[in-house]
Amino acid sequence: MLLRHTTDKIKERKALTVNPAKTCQPIGAMYAALGVHGCLPHSHGSQGCCSYHRSALTRHYKEPVMAATSSFTEGSSVFGGQSNLLQSITNIFTIYEPEIIAVHSTCLSETIGDDLGQIVGKAQDDGLIPEGKHVIQAATPSYVGSHVTGYANMLESIVKYFARKSDKLKKQINILAGWVEPSDMRELKRILKLMKIKNVLLPDTSDVLDAPMTGKYEMYPKGGTTIPEITSMGDSLFTIGLGEWATRNAAIMLDNQCKVKFDIEDLPIGLQATDRFIQTLSKAGSVSVPESINDERGRLVDVITDMHQYFYGKRVALWGDPDQLIPLVEFLVSIDMKPVYIVSGTPGKEFGKRMEKILEERVPEAKYKNGANADMLLMHQWIKDNPVDLLIGNTYGKYIARDEDIPFVRMGFPIMDRIGHSYFSTIGYMGSIRILEKILSVLMDKEDATCLEESFELVM
Ligand code: SF4
Repeated sequence: MLLRHTTDKIKERKALTVNPAKTCQPIGAMYAALGVHGCLPHSHGSQGCCSYHRSALTRHYKEPVMAATSSFTEGSSVFGGQSNLLQSITNIFTIYEPEIIAVHSTCLSETIGDDLGQIVGKAQDDGLIPEGKHVIQAATPSYVGSHVTGYANMLESIVKYFARKSDKLKKQINILAGWVEPSDMRELKRILKLMKIKNVLLPDTSDVLDAPMTGKYEMYPKGGTTIPEITSMGDSLFTIGLGEWATRNAAIMLDNQCKVKFDIEDLPIGLQATDRFIQTLSKAGSVSVPESINDERGRLVDVITDMHQYFYGKRVALWGDPDQLIPLVEFLVSIDMKPVYIVSGTPGKEFGKRMEKILEERVPEAKYKNGANADMLLMHQWIKDNPVDLLIGNTYGKYIARDEDIPFVRMGFPIMDRIGHSYFSTIGYMGSIRILEKILSVLMDKEDATCLEESFELVM
């Protein structure tokens, strides 16, 4: 009973967040930067921040995540971190030899007013950036937004810095990946290959954070979108951004800078969102949908039909990032589950509007909230007041799962106590089958463990 003091009496809170359903901006900036080949993230702040960001990513991906820091001391906290960053840039290019340093700010450097653009400009003027090497920067103050905001800010900076329009249009489309796993990025590329659509995927953390063990340490693994690929995005036919929160700003930047039109789609999680994604791909690439993809869709529909009785009417509580939650909730509603409680620490007005649209008819009793006060305490209180059959969210839900004895499917970021997310995708039709498999497994395990002996079934 780790959370035994949580009461079901909900009090209006204005300034207090307890167990937030989000994490800090620079973690997202680091993750986005790692999806660019030969890029070393750099945290402009204290060593403690950088250690936390690295360890959060390392615990989730089970890979050693490299990043540098400006290592603020008391002096730099008072007088500014310019000299620390200039020295860092010199050291990093001399010792670690990345193609790109992706600098993001932290709460501390933002609060004291360090201007990253000015410092990087000075590094350029002083000749500290070697020929052919690059330093990009993004502001990621963590007292606003969440890790998703940091991801979006760094993605926008990458596009702004590298994408260029030439006079040669390329027969390719851009895919701006929302915050998904390396396995999902691999799945996106598989789908695009099946559809024979030439593309640039940015960022691409496959073969970076799921790199195979070869016995040889590679500071910059073979994966990641390359600089020429990102530059060529300015000449593409069209951009598809996957996730409103994570990709809209980068898509707008690409349109403003290079006149590449865009569409923002939900992450292809579940049947409907994947249908929309495949249709958008088909239109943007002027290709028809191949039979192999239709077959995958058919398999998903088959699983839904066969297993519908086990999903029907089950009450679900979910927490995580808006870009994942919106299509996931839509998917659960479509299979007659009841997503009754949903929280996300990431702010944004669109969240409430989308949830209302998805839930108002089929689950009118649903409660949903996002922003600073939409935390795990509120979620637990809702559950104590009226329990659910299933929890879906990141590792932080395990306390509620244990205390309330509720089946728990881990999805989202971070997952620190299980593996699988790096290897098995949860997007597209095949990924959606995996989601259903995970849900069914925990529901059936609970049924088998708790049902009466005369109801114990060998066959599902
Ligand atoms: S101080 Fe700010 S940037 Fe640093 S770890 Fe905390 S929230 Fe993140």
